[in-house]
Parts: sequence; structure tokens; C-alpha cells
Amino acid sequence: MPIRRDQFYIEMKVSRTVRRLPGNGFEPAYLVLHRSGELAERARIADRHLEDCDLCARYCHVNRKQTLDGVVCRTGELAVVNSAGPHHGEEDCLRGWRGSGTIFFAWCNMRCVFCQNWDISWKGRGEERTAAELADIMLNLQAMGSHNINLVSPSHVVAQILAALVIAADEGLRLPLVYNSGGYDSPEALKLLDGVVDIYMPDTKYGDPELAKKYSHTPDYVRVNQAAVREMQAQVGDLRLNADGIAERGLLVRHLVLPGGNAGTEQVMQFLAREISPDTYVNVMDQYRPAYRAGEYPELDRMITAAEYEAALEAARKAGLRRIDRRCSDRWVVKWP
Ligand code: SF4
Repeated sequence: MPIRRDQFYIEMKVSRTVRRLPGNGFEPAYLVLHRSGELAERARIADRHLEDCDLCARYCHVNRKQTLDGVVCRTGELAVVNSAGPHHGEEDCLRGWRGSGTIFFAWCNMRCVFCQNWDISWKGRGEERTAAELADIMLNLQAMGSHNINLVSPSHVVAQILAALVIAADEGLRLPLVYNSGGYDSPEALKLLDGVVDIYMPDTKYGDPELAKKYSHTPDYVRVNQAAVREMQAQVGDLRLNADGIAERGLLVRHLVLPGGNAGTEQVMQFLAREISPDTYVNVMDQYRPAYRAGEYPELDRMITAAEYEAALEAARKAGLRRIDRRCSDRWVVKWP
């Protein structure tokens, strides 16, 4: 299927020679598995999981190759891609100076009422892509000079990503793979990704299961998320940067501060500091805005205040976290009476 110009800005065709970037000594984790044939085997196993899906913590157990009935993520055999391109709004260690090569997958396994990308995650805006097309997108992002491949909302398309990665690795992909998820990942999926993902970037959205249920329809989010983050840390360890300050391997956790302390920031930071590592790289994000259905919840129907954001940062410091991303400026934070 041709890539449509209005949905993609990476449709340029580049030769295989150009797409094989010269190495700088870095080797992504998945290349080792690719050489041994294990990556292709993981893709085959993941494909079978689609037939009784347990690839995220929803555990729908539906055959996604046959039906979408009962499929929470609304995604069948093929991944739906909204857009892709070098993104300059990510953390400095991901965006560098040439951008992070983001691929935005449509649909989501979570149901956050305040979703900032609701047209993509709730409405599924995008087009189905085959494994070969997805591989092509990855290779074009590499040819454009991106520092990494940044898979946004990947939890429900792990099988499709693995299938594409086999092709892309064969064609010369050698960028680190960033798994940028909402943090509602199943152990089954994470097992398939062990040795494949270089940088895990999960959200840790909540510290209180009741609020996770109320705002994201995920009553077991805190338990699932904490187990997932523990597993991610076990696989890749604390975030490591290269000499240019670009992330190459490790864990980077994002936490979006909600108005009125509804994200449970204190509990989240204490979990990260005590149970993961005081050197966990954490981005305490200030860009909440009342999007999508947030207006139905009066306590969420405003932006956060400067004082709330400062309190969140203080909670992180007080918990003992030593690597807090401070790229966030005050531009999103409004004064609130
Ligand atoms: S990925 Fe998750 S939400 Fe989608 S069908 Fe599988 S278990 Fe359900």
C-alpha cells in the first residue's frame, strides 16, 4: 500500500546504500538476536499470540486475525500507523539534534479520559501497515538521521513490531529501539521483547488503583505497571547516555502530573526510588491540559499550577531520585488562583 503524502512525511525513497548508515561503534540489542535467528523466532511466537491475545495486560484472549469483537485495542492483524517522522519535542537525550524517529501507532490498550492524543488513541486515526511497510518507515527514519526509533503506544502491536524489525534489521537498521508505552504491558509481551528493546520509556501514570480505574479504566494499573517497570529495569538497567548525551540503553520513566495530585506523584516517586533505582531517569511532565473527556471530571478540567508542578518535582527529589529531567520549561504551566 503506498504511503500517503498527507499522513506521512517520511515517504521519500532512499537507496539501500543510503539507508545503511555508517556505524559509530554502537550496536542495538536486537542485532545480536537477529544474527542468531532468535529475532525471527520471537516474531513467529508473537504472531501466534495474536490468535489468543495476551500481548498486553487487558488479556482479551481473542483471535485478532479473525475478529475485532472483544479486542479492547481495536487492532487486528496489522498495525495502524498514524504518522511518523523525526520528533524534536522529546527529552534531550532522545531528540538530540536530529530528532527522535517517532512512529505513532493508532489505537491504545488504555482508556485515559484526558488523553492528549485522543484522535489517535481513541479514534484510531491512521492506516494499516504491513510488516514490510513498517520496516520501510523505520529505515527511512534512520536515513533521515534520527537518533533512534521511537515506538509510541506500542503495547498492543508488539507482534507487528517484531515482524517489521526482522525485515528492517536485515535491511540495515541499527538505531536503538525506544519502547514508549503507557506502562500497561503484560509479562508475556515483555518476555518477547527481552534483548530486543534498547530503551524502555514507560509511563508510570498513577499511584492509586482507584484513580487508575476512574480515569483510565485500568483498575489493576498500579500492580501491572509496577511489575512491568521492574521487568524493564531488570532487562536494560538505568539509562546510559553516550559521549554526546544521547540515550543508548536503559530505562526512562515518564510521569504526567495531574491537577489536584490525582496522579499520586508521591507514591510513584517513592516506588521508583525505592524499588527500581534512585538513578532511574525520570521525566516529571508538566504539559497536562484538559483534553478529550476531561471536562466531565471537574477536578481534571484545568491545567496544573506552577505550585503543583514544583511540588511534584520536590516529591521526586524527596524520594531520593537523582536523575530528574528538567527540560520542561514553564511554558505549559499557568498560574491558577
Ligand atoms: S493487545 Fe491487549 S487490548 Fe489488544 S487484543 Fe491483545 S490483550 Fe486485548
